[in-house]
Amino acid sequence: MSTKVLILGAGFGGLAAALEFDKAMKSRPDLEVTLIDRENHFLFTPMLHEVAAGELEPTSIVIPIRKALKRVKFYSCDATRIDLEKRQAVVCHGYHYHGHDLRYDHLLVGMGSIITSFFGLPGVESQALTMKSLADAVRLRNRMISNLEEAESECSTVDKQPLLTFVVAGGGFAGVETMAGMRDFIHAALPHFPSLSWRQIRLVLVHPGKTILTELGVELGTYAQEKLAARGVEIRSESRVAAFEGADVCLTDGTCIVCLGNCREVVLVLFFQFMFSIPDQRLSTGRYGFSFFEAR
Ligand SMILES: Cc1cc2nc3c(=O)[nH]c(=O)nc-3n(C[C@H](O)[C@H](O)[C@H](O)COP(=O)(O)OP(=O)(O)OC[C@H]3O[C@@H](n4cnc5c(N)ncnc54)[C@H](O)[C@@H]3O)c2cc1C
Repeated sequence: MSTKVLILGAGFGGLAAALEFDKAMKSRPDLEVTLIDRENHFLFTPMLHEVAAGELEPTSIVIPIRKALKRVKFYSCDATRIDLEKRQAVVCHGYHYHGHDLRYDHLLVGMGSIITSFFGLPGVESQALTMKSLADAVRLRNRMISNLEEAESECSTVDKQPLLTFVVAGGGFAGVETMAGMRDFIHAALPHFPSLSWRQIRLVLVHPGKTILTELGVELGTYAQEKLAARGVEIRSESRVAAFEGADVCLTDGTCIVCLGNCREVVLVLFFQFMFSIPDQRLSTGRYGFSFFEAR
């Protein structure tokens, strides 16, 4: 009789496990391993910002799961329920979203941090775009382009400044990389928008600590901070985003970043990394639970 192993999630953890099983199954015909993920590709999240910044095409940071595995069975499904007593999981898929019961002897759960927590900050959940998937990265890139297009157009009745203001909250690795990528993307695009100038662009990085990139220590953090500042990024250290109300991104220091125009028309993109701004017990919701916000 075969031993059934079920792996839910083909992210960093799940796919690594599946690859090991795939090798082991060469000499273990008694193993039957099944991998489930709602996507049929593995996403290399550390390079997600490069897609947002237009430096890489989306296909450059994904691996088709089916291609990576020889012996492990893969189904692209949503895992919706686990019955520990019966040792089975319910997975759903297809245009009609029908369900299947998958029995297992051993279960590995590697579904990452599925739910983004918005920590109850006013206006955040309703206006946030998360930054966890390829779609999120493409959305940010599209947002930058459409903001520039809108600001460029002569007939636009919208106040231009908010369209050209981009706020990143959280100066950890991902926040800094994203801000730098956005800066380079906008800087390279601007010559093609003749009515816009670099002076109009406002890029703000909000960070709770004294210096960004806390993981690298003060010296390197200060160095990175100076480099970003020299390239036109405004660093708002020792501050956090407290709310996103109307068109205003309000910080804990009492200031608001963009308070211009009619908030129904103003579009503001805010990248928010909660890494340093949340109490410890909330870290379980995902170390990289950051999001983009836009006023609608
Ligand atoms: C933008 C970004 C940049 C990052 N940069 C770094 C970095 O530079 N260095 C670093 O160490 N970490 C980085 N991280 C964090 C890193 O991606 C995570 O720590 C890591 O992905 C966690 O691995 P995991 O296997 O637990 O989950 P994940 O890799 O998130 O995988 C979870 C998988 O489960 C699938 N899934 C979820 N729910 C279901 C369901 N119900 N049914 C079916 N499938 C489901 C998802 O589609 C996904 O494929 C970054 C994260 C992000 C978002």
